[in-house]
Amino acid sequence: MRCPHLTGDLRCTLFGQPERPSTCIGFRPEPEICGRSADEAMATLVSWERLTRPK
Ligand code: SF4
Repeated sequence: MRCPHLTGDLRCTLFGQPERPSTCIGFRPEPEICGRSADEAMATLVSWERLTRPK
């Protein structure tokens, strides 16, 4: 599910705001996670969701 704070041009409307979740503040992008595009990042996320789905 897409974050409700993400704009159509992939910007965070909470960036720099105190309401921004600590998980987001602490996240450090890595090529292994983000790939080279939003599509690659989504494919990785979907893959990890499948791999870690409860049985
Ligand atoms: S950084 Fe966090 S709050 Fe901002 S758009 Fe991404 S997931 Fe949403």
